[in-house]
Amino acid sequence: MEKRELVIIGAGPAGLTAAIYGRRSGLDVLILEKGLAGGQINTTDEIENWPGVQHASGQELADMFREHAAKFKPEFREVEVQGIELKEGKKLVVTDKGVVEAQAILLATGASFKKQGCPGEAEYTGRGVSYCAVCDGAFFEDQEVAVIGGGNTAVEEGAYLTQFASKVYIIHRRDSFRADKVAVERALGNPKVQAVWDSVVEEIRGTDMVESLLLKNVKTGEKSELPVSGVFVFIGNEPNVGFLKPLIDSGVLKTARGGWIRVNDRMETSIEGIFAAGDLIDKYLRQVVTAAGDGATAAMAAYAYVSEQVHLEGKLLEPDEVTAVFYSSVEEPQVRLAGEIEADPQWNRVVLVDGYKNSRMAEKLQVETLPCALKIRKGKVAGQLKLASAEDLKGL
Ligand SMILES: Cc1cc2nc3c(=O)[nH]c(=O)nc-3n(C[C@H](O)[C@H](O)[C@H](O)COP(=O)(O)OP(=O)(O)OC[C@H]3O[C@@H](n4cnc5c(N)ncnc54)[C@H](O)[C@@H]3O)c2cc1C
Repeated sequence: MEKRELVIIGAGPAGLTAAIYGRRSGLDVLILEKGLAGGQINTTDEIENWPGVQHASGQELADMFREHAAKFKPEFREVEVQGIELKEGKKLVVTDKGVVEAQAILLATGASFKKQGCPGEAEYTGRGVSYCAVCDGAFFEDQEVAVIGGGNTAVEEGAYLTQFASKVYIIHRRDSFRADKVAVERALGNPKVQAVWDSVVEEIRGTDMVESLLLKNVKTGEKSELPVSGVFVFIGNEPNVGFLKPLIDSGVLKTARGGWIRVNDRMETSIEGIFAAGDLIDKYLRQVVTAAGDGATAAMAAYAYVSEQVHLEGKLLEPDEVTAVFYSSVEEPQVRLAGEIEADPQWNRVVLVDGYKNSRMAEKLQVETLPCALKIRKGKVAGQLKLASAEDLKGL
């Protein structure tokens, strides 16, 4: 089976940045992408908040990211990842074109717009139903359209659509928008924008293309039909984690409310050797700049994992018998003790492990306290001893 050091799933800003950092650290990097490298920014008209580039179209920035990553020669592969399997301590990435075993995996599959879920939505997607004003707004020149939602995206994209549409109805289930005050004032100050309060869309209707929406007023229960040629759904985002469902449902891969992947500050997920970065993680701000930052952190953490943990596994778990001393590199007396053991020729076969930095390995070997000595036979702990001095090693 094909084996790789770091497999990155998703070539958006997070994945591409991780590829740059991973390759520059010397890792063998395979990056898997089912669509267009560059990710979501390919669909946006302009980006003005990526430092150093005052203005670029999303596609221009995506091209720059892609070219920059390609310079460091990761291997790009056009495949859809269908799942991750954990078998006998191995991590397998299952794609529509085969399976790859990875020492470390980076999940960087981003997020997508949520669906409204009413009848007609799926049927008319691409025939009047859209999730991207920048991509599809121009198709509605001088026509009336609706936006569903009440957050920033709905209100800002609603105002953006007035460049093309003759009228933009913003349909919201409450009687005020959740969006920023400035965005709301700008949208509602535009004579082409009309808010439709306390309303939900029950059905999207049409023949070949969208022709109208069936609305229901949530306060009065009254139903009405609103003729429009297009409807833009902006009711929030959700992480692209469908392929991880078995791991999430079994509780092995931990998520926060909304399904966002939980990570620590090293972008480590709850599964050893699996990292996550970008829009799919549980975080405050989902933007290019934060996705890139997450990708850099994840790649460096993956590098540390591959070089330390995997290397350690070889030293600790593979030999028939080994004695190891786990200590903490942030406790001065323990650092001194480790130094003494290292300097004494009688202990030259003892493997010293910084249990503070390699806490996962310490956990795996059920290290109870630091410093301690372990006798490990064929990957299994045969004895454990609390260490007060190097002499105590004789008792193991
Ligand atoms: C219309 C729009 C406008 C935006 N404007 C801005 C802006 O002005 N400034 C800004 O900073 N941010 C903006 N953003 C947000 C920004 O694009 C995202 O925060 C950023 O792209 C997240 O990067 P990412 O790498 O986490 O994920 P993504 O960009 O979503 O990339 C994820 C990649 O993973 C791939 N993928 C998903 N599932 C699989 C699978 N199973 N197998 C293989 N590949 C898979 C996808 O095809 C995609 O290429 C905008 C987003 C949109 C949609």
